[in-house]
Formats: sequence, C-alpha cells, structure tokens
Amino acid sequence: MTRHSHLAEWHPANWQGKPAQQQPNYPDKVTLDAVVSELARLPPLVVSGEIEMLKEEIAAAQRGERFVLQGGDCAETLEDCASDTIAKKLKILLQMSLVLVHGLKKPVVRIGRMAGQYAKPRSADTEIRGGVSLPSYRGAIVNRPGFSAEERGPDPQLLLRGYERAALTLNFVRALIDGGFADLHHTRYWDLDFVQHSPLKEAYERIVQSISDSLSFLEAMTRSPIHETSRARFYASHEGLHLHYEQAQTRYIARQGRWYNLSTHMPWIGMRTAALDGAHVELFRGIANPLGIKVGPAMNAEWIQGLIATLNPHNEPGRIVLIHRMGAKDIDKYLPPLIQAVSATGSPVLWLCDPMHGNTETASSGLKTRRFDNILAELEAAFRLHHEAGSRLGGVHIELTGDNVTECTGGARGLTDADLARAYRSQVDPRLNYEQSLELAMRIAGLHIP
Ligand code: PEP
Ligand code: MN
Repeated sequence: MTRHSHLAEWHPANWQGKPAQQQPNYPDKVTLDAVVSELARLPPLVVSGEIEMLKEEIAAAQRGERFVLQGGDCAETLEDCASDTIAKKLKILLQMSLVLVHGLKKPVVRIGRMAGQYAKPRSADTEIRGGVSLPSYRGAIVNRPGFSAEERGPDPQLLLRGYERAALTLNFVRALIDGGFADLHHTRYWDLDFVQHSPLKEAYERIVQSISDSLSFLEAMTRSPIHETSRARFYASHEGLHLHYEQAQTRYIARQGRWYNLSTHMPWIGMRTAALDGAHVELFRGIANPLGIKVGPAMNAEWIQGLIATLNPHNEPGRIVLIHRMGAKDIDKYLPPLIQAVSATGSPVLWLCDPMHGNTETASSGLKTRRFDNILAELEAAFRLHHEAGSRLGGVHIELTGDNVTECTGGARGLTDADLARAYRSQVDPRLNYEQSLELAMRIAGLHIP
C-alpha cells in the first residue's frame, strides 16, 4: 500500500459523476470544452514547491508557531487587475501583518484572497427585478453583473479572461515582493495617502518605529543586515468553486508523485459546496494543496469528522484549514461542539475565524453591511472559545480592501448606515476599508488604541 492508496481510483474529472452545487449552466458545451482544454494547456499560475512551502508554514501555525492572515475581496472583478488596486491591497495586508507580528510576537503567514477569487456561490439561481427573471451574477469568470439577458448569460470565454487576470495579478505581486516591497526596512512603501489623516496614525507609527528600532539593534549586534525579513512570502487563495476551472489547472507532478491544483496555493471549499458525497469534495480530496473548508452553523460533528477523514485520510500536517464563520450571536453555541469533534479525530487542523460571513445584515437603505463591533466580538469569542477548549485560533480570514470604501459600519471613524452610499463599491459582500482593517489588526494584536 502506498501512502496515497486512497487515490488509486481518483482522477481530476471524476467529480463530473457527482452532484455539483453552484455551477453555471452553460448552453454552449462545445465552447466550454474548447476553453477548458486551452486552460489545461496553459502554464500553471503557481508551482508545487511553493504549495509545499505554504503547507509547512500552515503546519507550523497548527503547532502555534505562526499566525495566518488571509484576506482580500469577497469577489475580485477583472477591473480589479489594476496596479493601484493590487498595490493597495498588498499594502494593507503587509501593514496588518506588521501589526500582528509586533503584537503576537510570531511570524505571520500572509495569504491573499486574490488572483483567482472570481466565482461566487449564490443563494438563488435567478434574480428577479421589475418582473424580469435572469440568472444571478456568479462572479467574473462566469457572467457579468449588468442586468440584461446578454450580460447574465454564462460565457465560457470569461474563464480564460479570469485566468489571464489572475496571472497578471500574481506577476505584479511577485515582482513587487522580489523587488523588496515587503522588506521591513522599507515600511514607508506601504503608506497609503489617507494614513496621514487617520485616527490610527500614531498607534501605527509607534509600531513601525519599534520594529525599526529592533531591526537596527539586531543588525548592530550581529553586524549584518537581517535578510529573512526582506524575502517575506505572499500566497494566493480563492474559493475553489468553479469545477471546470479548478480541474483544468489540476496537474500531476511526477517529481512529487502527487496531483496539485496549480491555479492557487490554497483553494477553499465554501459552505454551500461541502457535501461529503458532492463534486467539490471529490475533486479536492485528490490534490496535495493545503485546503480550506468553511464551517458554518449548519455543520455538525459527524459531517466535519467525515470531511477530515475524506480530505486528509493520512493526517498530513498543514493540509486542513477550518475556517469558521458562525456570527457573533451564535459562535458560543455552535463552535465548542465542533472543536470537540475535531479534537477527537486527533488529526492536525488549523482553525481560522472568518468574522465576516456570519455578521452580514441589510441596512435600511437595502445595502448589505456588517458592523465592526460584531466582527470584533466574533473574533474575541473565537479566541476565548478555542482557549477554553484547549484548542487554538491560528489565524483570521477577512474580507477587506486597501481602498477607502464605506461598506461596513463602525470602527474608529464611526461610520454609520448613512455613510454607506458614499463609497459602496462591492459587487457582492461588504468589505472592511483600509482603516477598519488596520484597526482590526491592532485589536487582534491586543494593542491599546486611543
Ligand atoms: C465567501 O467567503 O465569500 C463566502 C461566500 O463564504 P461562505 O462560503 O462562508 O458563505
Ligand atoms: Mn463574501
């Protein structure tokens, strides 16, 4: 028996024989097949060595030696592939990780919801407006947000456009990082214009100064520059929802003797597509990437144990990341039994808290929003509940943007429902803006903020 004997019968196309939730219904199968073949021929976006490196870092986080920050848009658009948008998102994630490193005193693994976050699960297949019923918007690789039959029809060519934009996004991120953008010696690169006017400016600058002093001290003592900090890594992740897209980028790597999804470092299975006998679990059980699984209030002990047994039968460290999203009101009730069920398996997992998706509400204007206080309350409860259960919260999963949007309420600037209309840009879920994201990192790091 080989270590991967459970995969004897597995093939990346086998999911097609299972029930697949949340897939677009393409009328033109010939074009779909041609596009998928082309995607399968094009080069991968990431390589297996990077994926294995992330797996090691996640394994370290499982042991409590690292903290994971996963964040980015709810849904990227093709237009988000612009230098300013990408650089700002990278900046806020770097600033947050700096604050977290400083406060938690451990290295932070940074994973963007980026370069492929293009497919969205929807609660209804159709949207009705003024008596007209059209397919729901399912993300940039599926259809277009405008409300006409033409725009809402699923277009297979968008799979290629998404792949290309993901490649361009990653290329820019990699170049910035290789060029020293993430170097702790150059934290000035990460400043955003409006930081100057932020109520958090002083708290943030104190952290930067303190890190800079520590760095100078160490460099003086060792008489050599600290290089480790300049080669900071950055990983990509997205929801592995669109199965044709994910299958096309799933390749066998002979050197490793395993299959990898090379469209991203860490795909995750969304809450609506985690059925044990479903197509998503079938495709992702065969790949060697670290794998996220969203865990909501509907999850139960048997189901989560089944997912762990199916997706990580050999208890490989660094493989499973459980991302719970219960809502501030419900986390006390739903999380503890799941922690217990998972601990009982003895299998290593990393727990992340997504304090966004259980706290979505509709403002009186009809806009979807989230309150900063609820987001924070869920996070605080998550740290406490894991601690009480002898478990550990190893990171956070946040929907955010580097832009100055007004989509979530609250935070140091006290945004209210009345502010939402001013700069509401999300096509799907409301994101924390730049200041709210930085404030959240400061709160997680346990810092005193005036
Ligand atoms: C998301 O992360 O944008 C999402 C849809 O989450 P969930 O599957 O947890 O609802
Ligand atoms: Mn979302």
